[in-house]
Amino acid sequence: MRQRPFILDPLFRPVSLLPGVGPRNLARLEKLTGGTKVLDVLWHLPIDLIDRRSCPKIHDVKAGQVVTLKVSVQKHFPPQKRGAPYRVWCSDETGALTLVFFHARPDWVLAQLPEGQQKIVSGKIEAFHDGLQMVHPDAIGDLADLERIAVYEPVYPLTEGLSNKMLRKVVEAAAEQIPTLPEWQEPSILKREGWTDWKTSLRHLHQPEEGQAILPESPDRRRLAYDELLANQLALALVRQSQRKSRGRALDIDRTLRQKFLELLPFTLTSAQCRVMEEIDADMTAPLRMLRLLQGDVGSGKTVVAVMALLNAVSNGLQGALMAPTEILARQHAETLAPWLEALGVPFLCLTGRDKGKKREALLQQIVEGAAKIVIGTHSLFQETILFQALGVAVIDEQHRFGVHQRLKLSEKGKGVDVLVMTATPIPRTLTLTAYGDMEVSRLDEKPPGRKSVDTRLIAADHLDQMIEGVRKEIEKGIQVYWVCPLVAESEVMDLAAAEERAALLQQFFGDRVGLVHGQMKPEEKDAVMQRFMQGACAVLVATTVIEVGVNVPNAAIMVIEHAERFGLAQLHQLRGRVGRGAAQSFCFLMYDGPLSETAKERLSIMRQTEDGFLIAEKDLELRGAGDILGTKQSGVPHFRVADLEHHKDLLEMARDEARLILHRDPKLEQERGQNLKTLLYLFERDQAIGLLKSG
Ligand code: ADP
Ligand code: MG
Repeated sequence: MRQRPFILDPLFRPVSLLPGVGPRNLARLEKLTGGTKVLDVLWHLPIDLIDRRSCPKIHDVKAGQVVTLKVSVQKHFPPQKRGAPYRVWCSDETGALTLVFFHARPDWVLAQLPEGQQKIVSGKIEAFHDGLQMVHPDAIGDLADLERIAVYEPVYPLTEGLSNKMLRKVVEAAAEQIPTLPEWQEPSILKREGWTDWKTSLRHLHQPEEGQAILPESPDRRRLAYDELLANQLALALVRQSQRKSRGRALDIDRTLRQKFLELLPFTLTSAQCRVMEEIDADMTAPLRMLRLLQGDVGSGKTVVAVMALLNAVSNGLQGALMAPTEILARQHAETLAPWLEALGVPFLCLTGRDKGKKREALLQQIVEGAAKIVIGTHSLFQETILFQALGVAVIDEQHRFGVHQRLKLSEKGKGVDVLVMTATPIPRTLTLTAYGDMEVSRLDEKPPGRKSVDTRLIAADHLDQMIEGVRKEIEKGIQVYWVCPLVAESEVMDLAAAEERAALLQQFFGDRVGLVHGQMKPEEKDAVMQRFMQGACAVLVATTVIEVGVNVPNAAIMVIEHAERFGLAQLHQLRGRVGRGAAQSFCFLMYDGPLSETAKERLSIMRQTEDGFLIAEKDLELRGAGDILGTKQSGVPHFRVADLEHHKDLLEMARDEARLILHRDPKLEQERGQNLKTLLYLFERDQAIGLLKSG
């Protein structure tokens, strides 16, 4: 079905239709801009400007300047011997200079600069002997080209085989295609911020008229960033609106059952757990459906919160589903919950991909008939055609890849089902807003008492033997060890080689008590190794970064991370969270290979200073910039093309408020501005949300 407004067509056409884009360049452009549409090229924004506006006389130029000169071509001096440059002597009425070309084809130079003609050349001036020269002018043109050459030239991020000159040509052709779009922003905002229309702003970024044009603070840049953030927030607000519209059930909280459960626990709830539980209870007793994100560091005690939410459903005659990202985690949850649910007399089952054939059918039967009140499984519980008798609440644990698309799918599945998404990846507030703006957010920001902190130390890589010796002593005490191996470049294969090599070395010391797990293993193989580690059969687990999030091995008290300087803060924090779960004092050894960059130093020192995941997440954002945070792709945090959260935080909050206001006034985006805002959603490819307007 055709939905995108026709007016956007020129932007969504393949860039290969533009002049100068053959198959080779197409591949390069795709690599560079992430797409093959005209729009992808237009969103590829310059990172720098070269000021070519200065057009002095030769007499006035100085070495080091970038200038655009009007010259008469006087005489050619082809190279006298191999390897020597081709020189062209030029002048104006005030002086002379030499243009220099290395490895140039003589016929090309002759054609570019015929003797006796007047030409425009632009480039950087260098001093040479007594005179001045310009090596390889960046631009050569006729007098008529002066206006085109003497400008602020945008400098783009490039890729191999694509020069700035080639890219500019494509961008200029693309800029010709920019249509005039109906204004979706309020005139009052445009006026207050001093913004112009979308088309002009976008043109300005590619054809800057002043030196500040491409800075994040420039009005043009801010306008486009605001457009993008508004599209993002509006899409989330639409999701939220549609989720809210589907009525939830108003449940009753069974205090007796709750009390019975709490009495089974060998501890009392932290005040953070109590607060979060009140928030969840309030959602579940309200007639709207719950859509809540629970953020809590590893070990902050999310599981008991999940159980209480599940029990809320059960005590109302409904079912609860608890979903983990992997089978191993699903099984671990089942093991944790089993004694509690048995004591409470709540029938439950665990369903994973491993259950096949007759057994699987029997389990599915129990789910659809309602014999099983709590179902623990992987995310496939929702993806497959598994039918529940009456699902009341879905708890999704350790979500890393649960973007807004998946949440939409989920809402299609169960009408009125309360949803609690739990994540152990603390996300800074700004990012939470961009990724989960459709959900309410709860934070477990307090660790259960008595938790020992993990002693974090920095170790230089050349102290490897001491590290191994230290590990030996711990293993002898019965302590288990994680050993995370260098993350080399982006290559899985090289990561693997490094991990294998390290495992082989450690095996020389510790024999078959060393296990290896990496990303290229089959899930069954991985599970088998993890099982051996969990059962204590293996003492040292060498891993690339695939150690399952959330795996709980209390006896593992040592975490060694090689090349810690190559990891992001969030990832180091996640890794360190694997230890510190048992009675023994835990250690995290960050091994580094010097010399360290300033940022790397700061990162490692933050790791030593704090274990607060939220604080670490904020620092990570500061140190890396939103786009760089490792794992942002998986975390469902959207990728922005213009907006830069470090500089445009204020715009994000503005966008959130405005998006809510817009839907309050025009819930179906039917009015004139609403129509224009739909165009905005299509423009930023956030149009899945538009479908929601129909289904409502
Ligand atoms: P996560 O948030 O990482 O899922 P868990 O729910 O697995 O954390 O909890 C980590 C450990 O802390 C578990 O052994 C759990 O029983 C324990 N725990 C949870 N809440 C408390 C509490 N209030 N006091 C003490 N221990 C707790
Ligand atoms: Mg957990």
